[in-house]
Amino acid sequence: MITVAGLGVAGSYLLRRLHMEGGFSAEGYDPKPPGYYIPCGYAVNFNLFRDYCRMAGLEPDNYLLSSGRRVVMENSSGLSMEFRNVGLSTIEKNSFERDLVEGLRVHRERAKAGGDEVTVDATGISRSIIGHARDDFRMQTLEYLADSGLSDAFLFHYFPPRASGYLWSFPLAGTSMWARAPQTLFC
Ligand SMILES: Cc1cc2nc3c(=O)[nH]c(=O)nc-3n(C[C@H](O)[C@H](O)[C@H](O)COP(=O)(O)OP(=O)(O)OC[C@H]3O[C@@H](n4cnc5c(N)ncnc54)[C@H](O)[C@@H]3O)c2cc1C
Repeated sequence: MITVAGLGVAGSYLLRRLHMEGGFSAEGYDPKPPGYYIPCGYAVNFNLFRDYCRMAGLEPDNYLLSSGRRVVMENSSGLSMEFRNVGLSTIEKNSFERDLVEGLRVHRERAKAGGDEVTVDATGISRSIIGHARDDFRMQTLEYLADSGLSDAFLFHYFPPRASGYLWSFPLAGTSMWARAPQTLFC
């Protein structure tokens, strides 16, 4: 028996591929209720996403939210670069994760270590089964869903090196999402 602990995008995809390959007995565990929102992972290279959907037997266009035409990178000194967008898109990640495990053996509870032949820790930053690496370095991120964006483009704004990281704004369907990911936290 293979136990997949954690059904985010990594665990859900693995569980589905094991099922599709055949010959494996596998089940997934995740206490998260269906539809529970966990940030984030909406922005993908849609060309690669299409390949992964194909391998999982899913239709990529079902998950496409927005493909803005432009990618803008700017910094706090006023320097700005703009690119034509050739694949960066936002997707409906919750539906994608839901569909990946549709019909598979899923338990809405925490996984326990041991007992099975193989346990895969796909619990993301929790590392619930294998534990945290020594000197593991984690940073906080703030994320907001907004009715209107800072731009109609995929926007990346970089703060000065000794300040606090970067901010991005990505177009979604009816809303925009933006997050500020600090590289350094100041009190
Ligand atoms: C603000 C923010 C924005 C981001 N934006 C993007 C983006 O635009 N594009 C992108 O590609 N990536 C983005 N990322 C990164 C992306 O979200 C992660 O890389 C991705 O979600 C990791 O997937 P995962 O399946 O490994 O883990 P997760 O998605 O974190 O899933 C882990 C799962 O494990 C479950 N779990 C925890 N403990 C247990 C347990 N004991 N037993 C069973 N289940 C357990 C949790 O409930 C969760 O569902 C962003 C991250 C953040 C924080």
